[in-house]
Amino acid sequence: MGRSERERPCVLVVEDNPVNLELAVALLEAEGCRVLTATTADEGIGLVAAQRPHLILMDIQLPGKTGYEATRQLKADPATAAIPIVALTAQAMTGDREKALAAGCDEYCTKPLDTGRFRALLHRHLGVQES
Ligand code: MN
Repeated sequence: MGRSERERPCVLVVEDNPVNLELAVALLEAEGCRVLTATTADEGIGLVAAQRPHLILMDIQLPGKTGYEATRQLKADPATAAIPIVALTAQAMTGDREKALAAGCDEYCTKPLDTGRFRALLHRHLGVQES
């Protein structure tokens, strides 16, 4: 795509499961994104403050602070409220979508990630070009 490092979309993935994290990173890198990773909510919030990613993929079940709590915190801060957050949930549990949206998530995506749907989601939020 010939994008420079500064132009590449930056995506933060907050995910404590190493297999899920690896898959998300691989898909994002294949789409030309710069990827930041965190395995806890607080680590993720710290990276948001320091790096201002264009998009956040937020696992819900995390050790300690949940993805819902982290999302509420980021959406309550005017400095980070505009960054889209996509909730990653392990399964389509009843009410998960509603809870994610109520916490302030912009969208919700079930795991395991479906490659086609995941790419479509990236294109919606980042304008990443189809390759
Ligand atoms: Mn998890």
